[in-house]
Amino acid sequence: MSSPVRIAFLGGLGEIGRNCMAVEHDDRILLIDCGLMFPDPDMHGIDLVLPDFTYLRDNAERIEGCVITHGHEDHVGALQFLLRELSFPIFGSAVGLGLARHRIEEAGLLGRTQLIAVADGERRRIGPFDVEFIPVTHSVPHSHAIALHTPQGVVLHSGDFKLDLTPVDGRRTDLGRIGALASGAGGGRGIRLLMADSTNSEEHGHAPSESSVGAVLRQLFQEHADRRIITASFASHLHRIQQIMDAAIACGRVVATLGLSMKKNVRLGRELGILHVPDASLVDIDDIDQYPPGKVCIVSTGSQGEPMAALALLARGESKFVKVGEHDTVILSSHAIPGNEGNVNRVIDGLLRAGCEVVHSGIADVHASGHAQADELKTYLSIASPEWYVPIHGEYRHLVANAKLGVTMGVARDHVLLCDDGDVLQLDDDGLTVAGRIPAGYLYVDGIIGDVGQGVLRDRRLLAEEGVVVVVVTVDVTTGKVLTGPEIITRGWVYAPEAEDLLDEACDRVAAAVERALAEGVRDVEGLERDVRRAAGKFVNERTRRRPMIVPVVMEA
Ligand SMILES: [Zn+2]
Ligand SMILES: [Zn+2]
Repeated sequence: MSSPVRIAFLGGLGEIGRNCMAVEHDDRILLIDCGLMFPDPDMHGIDLVLPDFTYLRDNAERIEGCVITHGHEDHVGALQFLLRELSFPIFGSAVGLGLARHRIEEAGLLGRTQLIAVADGERRRIGPFDVEFIPVTHSVPHSHAIALHTPQGVVLHSGDFKLDLTPVDGRRTDLGRIGALASGAGGGRGIRLLMADSTNSEEHGHAPSESSVGAVLRQLFQEHADRRIITASFASHLHRIQQIMDAAIACGRVVATLGLSMKKNVRLGRELGILHVPDASLVDIDDIDQYPPGKVCIVSTGSQGEPMAALALLARGESKFVKVGEHDTVILSSHAIPGNEGNVNRVIDGLLRAGCEVVHSGIADVHASGHAQADELKTYLSIASPEWYVPIHGEYRHLVANAKLGVTMGVARDHVLLCDDGDVLQLDDDGLTVAGRIPAGYLYVDGIIGDVGQGVLRDRRLLAEEGVVVVVVTVDVTTGKVLTGPEIITRGWVYAPEAEDLLDEACDRVAAAVERALAEGVRDVEGLERDVRRAAGKFVNERTRRRPMIVPVVMEA
């Protein structure tokens, strides 16, 4: 009997974001990724959503470290929160760590956090774990799949990947190595368990190559030779930024970055030798007015329409660096993540109103996804031919589509497991089973602390949708008389200055209810508040068919 391997999913299964799993072996824990999720519009006031860290907190002394597959926020963005409570080393590619480092630094935790860079193909021991970092192509350079060599065989985590045959840096997903693992290289028994990226599993065919975007960009730059060009893309997509800058420089333009994360990541990419831009071609955003429009390219953040990012500020005419107008062509070299469409549309409208020409992925092929589509997953599955298959990274529908691909490609139907956040899997000599559950709910962050629960969110939703009615009344409990009030204060139910009659009527109705209760001998504050809430709620509903939050305040004199 070999010792079992356990895998606990803390997030990423059933949603896009919060990618985080804990692998356990010999009583030690290795984290793979620790990401955040961006909130839905109905999560009022929530800035970020994190994995529930209860399980990690309860087992803190058993954590050996965290390996990161790449530096996207949905894989590393929660580290800065977890590292406030726990301390462990982080392993990943230099660029992955560089991206993660920005946030950890902002949180002031860099001093006590060890960041350990690994090379492509490197295999190293982390406690009892034998970890191999396999190169994969994705929308951020130097991403990795993680192969764990365990007594139960190879456990392979695909990371976020695509099968791009002509990536910008020539660094392809290492299918050769995956094939070698599958055929039992090193005396193993093939790939025991594969967990693979489901994001684009519903998209048929094959994602276009990243380098195809470069050709489209070059053409656009040629067609707009005398106009200023502003591009927006993810600041971490250094290969996209490289292709934009190459196209610009080839037409004799200088480039300037706009947005703090763009500036930081361009610096990081150049330091690591991933991004190649001559010093002479890079100018400060403050100096761009010295150049005619056809000689400038501005490389901006904000491609998701984030209201406070550089592109949205441009669209609203609020940027202190750049004013846009009729001489500008804006290229959104991106695709709106589900949930961001509204913000992106608002930005596009703003730019058009300002007189700009706007080119987006609906008009020209200025974007290519970084995630494998169905045919790529099939190719990957045919090479990996895992004994067990668990789709990860995606909404439930994506996991289901990916599970079907597994079956299509020959994984036994009962060896494909659809799992959820919170599931704990056990891989042992008998196979793979769901062996337990851990807490895996949403941890909502508003400001810098994650103390917002479901109750607070429910209240916020009600306040946002229906408003609030506060009813204040003072009673003398000994005599059973109303002393002052009821007084009604409302926000969001009716506009009080224009609804005096309605408010007076509401006061009368509540007063009658309180007097009746007092006459019946009710003397406790809670009991009276219950009656106030009931009377006010009934009136509000009868007269307006609305259901605001009713807050009764009964004071004893
Ligand atoms: Zn990613
Ligand atoms: Zn991801």
